[in-house]
Amino acid sequence: MHLKTLTLRGFKSFASATTLNFEPGVTCVVGPNGSGKSNVVDALAWVMGEQGAKSLRGGKMEDVIFAGTSGRPPLGRAEVSLTIDNADGALPIEYSEVTISRTLFRSGGSEYAINGQGCRLLDIQDLLSDSGLGREMHVIVGQGQLDAVLRATPEERRGFIEEAAGVLKHRKRKEKALRKLEAMQANLTRLADLTGEIR
Ligand code: ATP
Repeated sequence: MHLKTLTLRGFKSFASATTLNFEPGVTCVVGPNGSGKSNVVDALAWVMGEQGAKSLRGGKMEDVIFAGTSGRPPLGRAEVSLTIDNADGALPIEYSEVTISRTLFRSGGSEYAINGQGCRLLDIQDLLSDSGLGREMHVIVGQGQLDAVLRATPEERRGFIEEAAGVLKHRKRKEKALRKLEAMQANLTRLADLTGEIR
């Protein structure tokens, strides 16, 4: 399995339709500062289902839509398509080539498709989940992230590992449940006091 082409249309700085062709092996994207190299990586993460605007270096999801320049008005939608060579059947679908697409409209709606057929985000995440391109996006190591890992304190490093292992959300849920239990315990104590007073 390898990534074959990535097409961006109205995504971040790519106002016009732009297609990148990837050959098997290592691909380097080279360009001056601010020319959109990281935007290409953001587009990859986005089309594979990334849901966090912050992970895409924005404040809100709408920030992925071309915001306009002095010579070009903003666009109403962002669209990214990724074609994956599936000749080895790594993706559980009976096609030797799979194109996943994602569109976001400035008016709010979004659309997802697999080989041109409309689908849910969950379908794309399910399709990719067994291939190592799963929903947590740990296959993409962002700029400065390696440095951050090397400089992290043991607690922070543990946080990275917990996030990668999907433990973090359970830890958050556990903390919330414990807070509820504590509040419940306080109520029970209060109830016992009141019952004692009534007797
Ligand atoms: P560096 O080498 O400095 O890391 P880069 O090539 O990775 O740079 P990017 O971060 O990919 O560059 O691109 C930044 C450019 O994308 C900026 O000029 C920014 O204004 C532009 N940009 C980001 N989001 C949008 C958007 N929604 N609409 C238009 N332009 C955008």
